[in-house]
Amino acid sequence: MVNLTASVADTVSDQADSPAIVTEERTLTYDDLWERISGFAAGLEERGVGVDDRVAIYLPNVPEFVLTFHGTLAAGGVVVPMNPQYRTREISHLLADSGAKVVVTLPDLVPVVDAVREDTNVEHVVTVGESEGDAAFFGDFLGDGDGEIEPRDDDDLAVQPYTSGTTGTPKGVKLTHHNLTSNAHGAAALAPGGIDSEDSLLGVLPLFHIYGMTVCMNATLFSGGVFYPLPTWDAQQALSLIEEAELTLMHGVPAMYNDIINQPNAADFDLSSLRLAGVGGGGIPIEVLRRFEELYDAKIYEGYGLTETSPVTHFNTPEKGRRVGSIGTTIDGVSARIVNDDFEELPPVEKGPLAEDDAELDDVTGEIVIAGPNVMAGYAGLPDATAEAFTEADGKRWFHTGDIGYWDEDGFFYVVDRKKHMINTAGYNVYPREVEELLFEHPAVADAAVVGIPDERRNETVKAFVVTVPDADVTEEEIQEYCLDNLAAYKHPREVAFVDELPRTTTGKVQKFELRQQ
Ligand code: ATP
Repeated sequence: MVNLTASVADTVSDQADSPAIVTEERTLTYDDLWERISGFAAGLEERGVGVDDRVAIYLPNVPEFVLTFHGTLAAGGVVVPMNPQYRTREISHLLADSGAKVVVTLPDLVPVVDAVREDTNVEHVVTVGESEGDAAFFGDFLGDGDGEIEPRDDDDLAVQPYTSGTTGTPKGVKLTHHNLTSNAHGAAALAPGGIDSEDSLLGVLPLFHIYGMTVCMNATLFSGGVFYPLPTWDAQQALSLIEEAELTLMHGVPAMYNDIINQPNAADFDLSSLRLAGVGGGGIPIEVLRRFEELYDAKIYEGYGLTETSPVTHFNTPEKGRRVGSIGTTIDGVSARIVNDDFEELPPVEKGPLAEDDAELDDVTGEIVIAGPNVMAGYAGLPDATAEAFTEADGKRWFHTGDIGYWDEDGFFYVVDRKKHMINTAGYNVYPREVEELLFEHPAVADAAVVGIPDERRNETVKAFVVTVPDADVTEEEIQEYCLDNLAAYKHPREVAFVDELPRTTTGKVQKFELRQQ
């Protein structure tokens, strides 16, 4: 019987007076945090909201996110995190599908909730941040908490995040108390010696997304570190905060690191306090990693995961070692295999990464499948999609990630690309990531994405979207020639479009479907 919020309660009893959450305006100690978590849980209970009831959190990274999250779980409820950039269409699906009874949000977002409320089970809309001071956290919603945590079974549902929907309607992912507890403890162990009260983490990855929720928020609070939430991404603000507060840990998506290295004053910041800079959510172009490490006395450690796996499955770590271009080795307790279409396990290569033109690649690449305590119970209300996502073999339940990769004899895994991003042109398969890596090495390129666009003759054609560095003087033909010089001809982009910026999700992923439509 483990309620994941019990791991926060453990920290509270160990170090009640040390800081837990710090923003520009306020500092909450672990004791303050617990008082409000208990108060929020009591507020829910007083309104008849309890075990298994859904509470939607529709907030950016503000302390109230943390309090609502753990207050809901302490009351035995289930958290439904919603992207604060979502508007009526998106939230109406999430609220209706999850059956949320409560929505916690900012005053500015109340009209969005009100516009869809009629078609949902929402009984209470709780606003935060209306006035200054402690009680302002939830207006008069807080009850008189006794600090008790509702006991939950390992397999009971704790959080139901939604996939971002790049593959269709977003699916609710059923994550249990055990899924999330085991993964947050696993994530805390990525920093050498674990996280402790001397550590402080830049909380800029969105908390509604599993990477921010588990690896940033929960790993820090389970281990007694200090969490610095930032509601929006601003490279200057993030760099100043790391330097001034001497933060020891950060996690970001590749787009954030790319943004950092492209700041005109990037070299003016001192990031030497960082003992771990993690990256995941997408492959970081090697060129971006290299330039970051040239600028700062800090190393980037890449990892991998998905919402369905709570999220972390693999990471490079200072202790277990790092291989650039790899997503690292599996974290404790998690198993991964590379399988072919018949679910046969493919053998490792001797040592990765392989060169992109290595003939061996075709024989060793397959789908990455995952088993372990972090793997979701299933998709909410979607038995067919759940059945499709799993294969039972050798006493384990393997989750199909939809990502293509290979592994080596030292246990390091490599992601080639997403299965669904593969371009089929004139009978050849092209993985966009390979072309993107090359584009990032071009001195005039600040950002790049490659997609397949429909083509009558070739089925698909490779098209590159490029953002250039300021004052760059480069033509479409020059980019094409550069690719032709460095890649097999069928992989080079037959079309190159220069754009001001790439369409990205809040978690920094390029919205490739939008590029294809353009
Ligand atoms: P949807 O499932 O709706 O498309 P999504 O892809 O944004 O949403 P997430 O769970 O946020 O869902 O992302 C998981 C995916 O992110 C993985 O399947 C993989 O494609 C990608 N990913 C994560 N880390 C890495 C990495 N280090 N290298 C390459 N890809 C990565």
